[in-house]
Amino acid sequence: MKLRKVTAASAVVLALAVTATACGSSDDKDSGSSGSGKKIAIGIKFDQPGIGQKTPQGYTGFDVDVAKYVAKKLGYDEDQIQWKEAKSADRETMLQRGDVQFIAASYSITPEREEKVDFAGPYLLAHQDVLVRADDDSIKSPADLNSKKLCSVTGSTSAQNVRDKLAPKANLLNYPTYSACLTGLQNKAVDALTTDDSILAGYASQDQFKGKFKLGGFKMTNENYGIGVKKGSDLKDKINKALEEMVADGSWEKAVQANFGPANYQYEPAPKIGDVKS
Ligand code: GLU
Repeated sequence: MKLRKVTAASAVVLALAVTATACGSSDDKDSGSSGSGKKIAIGIKFDQPGIGQKTPQGYTGFDVDVAKYVAKKLGYDEDQIQWKEAKSADRETMLQRGDVQFIAASYSITPEREEKVDFAGPYLLAHQDVLVRADDDSIKSPADLNSKKLCSVTGSTSAQNVRDKLAPKANLLNYPTYSACLTGLQNKAVDALTTDDSILAGYASQDQFKGKFKLGGFKMTNENYGIGVKKGSDLKDKINKALEEMVADGSWEKAVQANFGPANYQYEPAPKIGDVKS
């Protein structure tokens, strides 16, 4: 008797789960009807001020604004978005598994990643740089990093670039998140943190870090931010169209100013869709 009850309950749960999945995958129907219960799961960063950040007031940053704009064009209002943290090392897997419909998380378009996922965009051009303690004058060029303890995040292009070309002799420490690297920089476990200048500018301008850190200003690479989707997904074309509209109607410019202005980040002009700079 008890067993049968459980089975019946499981059947209901299963039915609900199936319905929810069916709703979730209806992302191609641009009905735009809010209140229909349909949701879209989007991957962003949770710990990058100015780019993607989870705060007590909600989710903020340039990637968040881009994602909201794109979602709207796909037929989803803000309250229909389910935000998920997409750490650097997890992004391809999250898309392959279908955990999220798309990822806007300081996600550089690279040939290696394009073997696993597709990208819309690019929608921002950033450059790899370093963040060091404000009183450290020993890092004047990328070559100076060779004798230093350098923090980067597992699964990021920044870690790969250091190993491959920028400072192959650096003592490279790979941490799981950028916030972990920042703590390391503060307590001198590492000498520098390397990633995109767009991200580092956001950290340097945080109240709790004001005057403590500075950027190298090295522009070591081109990082073309794209929106990642599952390989073969027809969302790619739709997102490209949305990104073009975002630039054309002035929303892109508004979003960069609002999000990068406080950090005084000198952003590049909006890239053309498909124009990936090597
Ligand atoms: N844009 C680089 C990347 O996609 C570094 C930033 C990040 O880890 O998100 O790997």
